[in-house]
Amino acid sequence: MIEIKDLHKSYKMGSNSLHVLKGINFKVEDGELVAIMGSSGSGKSTLLNILGMLDGADSGEYTLDEVPIKNLSETKAAQYRNKFLGFVFQSFNLINYKSALENVALPLYYQKVPRKERQEKAMQYLDKVGLKPWAHHLPSELSGGQKQRVAIARAMAAEPKVLLADEPTGALDSKTSYEVMDLIQQINDEGNTILVVTHEEDIAHMCKRIVHLKDGVIVEDKKIEQVRAGQYV
Ligand code: ADP
Ligand code: MG
Repeated sequence: MIEIKDLHKSYKMGSNSLHVLKGINFKVEDGELVAIMGSSGSGKSTLLNILGMLDGADSGEYTLDEVPIKNLSETKAAQYRNKFLGFVFQSFNLINYKSALENVALPLYYQKVPRKERQEKAMQYLDKVGLKPWAHHLPSELSGGQKQRVAIARAMAAEPKVLLADEPTGALDSKTSYEVMDLIQQINDEGNTILVVTHEEDIAHMCKRIVHLKDGVIVEDKKIEQVRAGQYV
């Protein structure tokens, strides 16, 4: 589903340059649930933004669903982004003056899905995340966990090939974090490929594979069974 080879990224600030990603290689197969873990500032969001085609790399290769993502025009990139990728952020990024239902229906509007079908599908996804009774409420009337559920429903409504979540539990208390991760696991069990960026070990441990980023490189890439086995050595 995803393959990256020798990916590099620097940020230039005046005459200085910060080399954040120093040759990242990895592959994600269809249906995986991968945590990208690392301390704050280790480049997790930078990597996820490149995978999400929100930003470009300086060098390296990126193939998404067999399509090489390089030198794509802005329009083509936007098309692929809408078709292939769903996003969930720490800060939910919901539209405050729209109801939960309208927020979920929004990507379908951009996909030119007819109004009635849009409403039905959005309601179906809200139901999936357990928020049907809250469909006509505004984000301000929802708890943090509920807001993140709406954001997840919105990302899934567009039926992306890959869901990219950047610190999805970063703004939530631990009980709510586990509930949101349960939902992410459930969506993965249904066959969806998901990447979760987190700096929290217990959140990473709810994924099937943990990729550990440090000083711009991957220092560890293990299946959860290997990680668990390693704890007892
Ligand atoms: P993480 O998500 O792991 O906390 P980031 O990818 O956000 O890390 O950032 C990695 C490093 O790059 C940090 O030192 C950060 O300050 C820097 N950085 C991130 N985005 C930018 C940017 N747009 N311009 C300059 N520096 C940036
Ligand atoms: Mg980050």
